[in-house]
Amino acid sequence: MTGEPALEGPAWLAEVTCVDVTVRLCRLASCRGELGGRRTAYCSDAHARAFEAEHVWPEARKRARRRAKYACQRCGFKPSAVRRDPAQARRYARHELKLEVNHIVALRGRYRFVSCLNHAVNLEVLCHRCHVAVTNETRTPASTAASRPTPG
Ligand SMILES: [Zn+2]
Ligand SMILES: [Zn+2]
Ligand SMILES: [Zn+2]
Repeated sequence: MTGEPALEGPAWLAEVTCVDVTVRLCRLASCRGELGGRRTAYCSDAHARAFEAEHVWPEARKRARRRAKYACQRCGFKPSAVRRDPAQARRYARHELKLEVNHIVALRGRYRFVSCLNHAVNLEVLCHRCHVAVTNETRTPASTAASRPTPG
């Protein structure tokens, strides 16, 4: 006996809020079709994949990078182009030649593996420099609509 609590259902269920996952309908928000036969969560494999693309972190991250054509979405820096040129590549540290995928609405320590925060609209692909800049921006609490000056 380890005293571990029994799993009362996957941890991720609480992080998926775009659909009611307790209802026995296809989990893809744009579908919500009936489940036929032995299906328990999705009406089809295609919809399972579509749901995963928007929620499962490794899949969402991979697609974000592909969508951004493997370049930073802020400054356009393209590590693959730099890597192809040894003279240029020498000027960068290895970690500077990686693209990071940032959550626009931050996870703040929440469960990352499956979450609505992994929706494509909440992800942006950034080079190391821009990622550092963005992280610093979000730490300073100059926040949202309330503090935005009205024009005129
Ligand atoms: Zn479906
Ligand atoms: Zn950048
Ligand atoms: Zn969602």
